[in-house]
Order: sequence, then C-alpha cells, then structure tokens
Amino acid sequence: MDSSKPVITATQQPETWQEILQSCFTQADQFLSYLKITHQVPDKLAGATKNFPLRVPLPFAQRIEKGNINDPLLLQILPQLAELDHATGFTDDPLNEYTFTPRQGLLHKYHGRVLMITTSSCAIHCRYCFRRHFPYDSHRQSKQQWSSNFDYIREDHTINEVILSGGDPLNCSDEHLQWITGELEKIQHIKRLRIHTRMPTVIPQRIDSGLINWLTQTNLKVVIVLHCNHANEIDDQVARALAKLSDIKIPLLNQSVLLANINDNSKVLIALSEQLFDCGVQPYYLHVLDKVAGAAHFDLENNTIVQLYKELVENLPGYLVPKLVREIAGAPAKVPVMPPSW
Ligand SMILES: *Cc1c(COP(=O)(O)O)cnc(C)c1O
Ligand code: SF4
Repeated sequence: MDSSKPVITATQQPETWQEILQSCFTQADQFLSYLKITHQVPDKLAGATKNFPLRVPLPFAQRIEKGNINDPLLLQILPQLAELDHATGFTDDPLNEYTFTPRQGLLHKYHGRVLMITTSSCAIHCRYCFRRHFPYDSHRQSKQQWSSNFDYIREDHTINEVILSGGDPLNCSDEHLQWITGELEKIQHIKRLRIHTRMPTVIPQRIDSGLINWLTQTNLKVVIVLHCNHANEIDDQVARALAKLSDIKIPLLNQSVLLANINDNSKVLIALSEQLFDCGVQPYYLHVLDKVAGAAHFDLENNTIVQLYKELVENLPGYLVPKLVREIAGAPAKVPVMPPSW
C-alpha cells in the first residue's frame, strides 16, 4: 500500500475525474481521520482485505457525516472485521458467474442481452459487492479478446442489447468507450447499449463534456442503470450530473442492494425512491444481497425483507417501487421475491 500518498488538503483539491480517481482514499486510518472518527483500525484487517482494499473518492467521502461511524454511506465502504467471519452459504462466486462466460470478459446468462466486463476497476469499493472475488486478472482484455467478444455477439442474432459492466465501465477513457461502441454499431442486430455504473453518484465530475459528446454521438439507444443505495448519496452536484444525462434524453434507472443497517428501513427506501425520481431516475431493481463471502453482516432475514417491501408497496405510487429480486444461479432472469400478502 502507498503510505507516501499525500493527504488531500483544501488547497490542492483534485478537479478532473481522472485526478479524483488518482487521489482516492485507500488508507483506513487516513480516511477515518478525515472523517474525524477515532477508531482503531485492526492490523489484521489491512492484510485480510488486501485483495479488495478500502477505496473511496473524495466526492463520496464528502457526503459522509463527520464523526458518525454508523453513517449509511460509510458502512457501505469501510472494511470491517466481520468480513473475516466464515458464514455458511456465503461463497466466492454466489452467482456461478465463472461458468457463464462463453468468452473471457463476456457473461451471457439471459436471453437477448450480454454483459461485458469492460474493466476490472471501480472508483469505489463496496464491501457487499458480489464481484469482490471475481478473477478479473484472468478476464483482463487484450484487443484480440475484445475482437473475439465482438465476434461472439456478431454471430448470435438473438442478442440485441449489450451491457457494459465491470468493474465500472465509466472508469474507462472516453476514447476506449467510443471504440467499443464503434465496434458494436457495426453489428446490425445490436439496438441498445446499457451502462451499469456507480460513477455518476460516486464521482459526478465524470459526467463531463467528453462523456456527453460520446453519448450523443452513438446511434445505439443508450440506457444508464445507476447504483445508489441511500438518498444521502445524492447531493446537488450529483443531481446536476444526472440532469445533464436527462437533458440528452437518456433513460436513467437505478438498482439498489438491500443492506442491513444501511437501507433496511422503509423510510430510507421511500426517501431514496423520491429523491431518485426528483432527479429523473426511475427505481428499477432492489436486490436481495448475493451471498458473497465477506458480506454476511449485510444480510437480512427473509421475513424482514418481505415486511419492508410490503411497507414500500403500501406507501409509494407503483412506479416508485423497485422490483424486489434475488439472483439464483442458473435462473433465466432475476427472480422476483414473492409479493407481500395482505
Ligand atoms: C443482471 C444481469 C443482466 C441484466 O438483467 P436485466 O434483468 O435485463 O436487468 C444481464 N446479464 C447478466 C449476466 C446479469 O447478471
Ligand atoms: S461499484 Fe459496483 S462493481 Fe464496483 S465494487 Fe461497487 S458494487 Fe462492486
């Protein structure tokens, strides 16, 4: 780890999204002292999480309440000793993704759409991430592998949508994204390009003129699916970034993960749906946590989940209720969780 990294000071704020990415917090003690939280970081935690270390960019850190160790944004990203517990049923590859990769970096599980692992890196490390153990190294793409992936898509005429995922696809440069879409545009049966990203909420500066140019130039129909779990993740700067995307008529959807002590409360989820809608974002999925090793402390009882969802359904207009789904390895789609009974 890079302990020589300078502490960010008010006079040298990073400005471009690339600078912000470069200056992420990666040292737990430095990060906690920025947050004015006095909390001893256990030594063994750093070693145990070295493959998936702390990583937080400044714009996200600024939305965390100072001095609050239970802040719902902080709990999503702070490594905890509980990650080291071995919980039954929690595995490295809960979705059996390693077997659904027809080509390196390509996941084809559902009819009509394929998911491309565009990059292995993310701007932020979410502790509950179901891909936290994904063998990205063996999915690192050479130009040749990319071209083999485009061949796969070209040969399967049932595919009409390509999902750029990761990691976070918006971690890639605009040039790289332009190249990918250029290749996809040459394939007649591809109509839609979907982007699964946390960037607009994590580093809103990413929605800059270069990105907007790329999105307006492609002739594919673009859909962006954000990932936001709590209304506090959306501040004015994020709202402005989202407005730029709405202005160019890109449909914006959001997926959230149900997380213990973070958003396992109907008031929090209702506030999230309302806040998203105010920013032009339609709630899409509410995911039951995938049973990934190291994330058991975010899990909720099934009864609690169903009760929570019942409260959402009873208190929101139908269009603000995300679909509650669970992923079951081998299923042909995300599986709806049974609706509440009255
Ligand atoms: C979630 C997922 C999709 C997208 O599913 P939708 O229901 O269309 O949002 C596609 N491919 C893979 C591998 C997925 O995990
Ligand atoms: S941004 Fe998405 S892929 Fe990256 S760590 Fe978070 S949940 Fe995982």
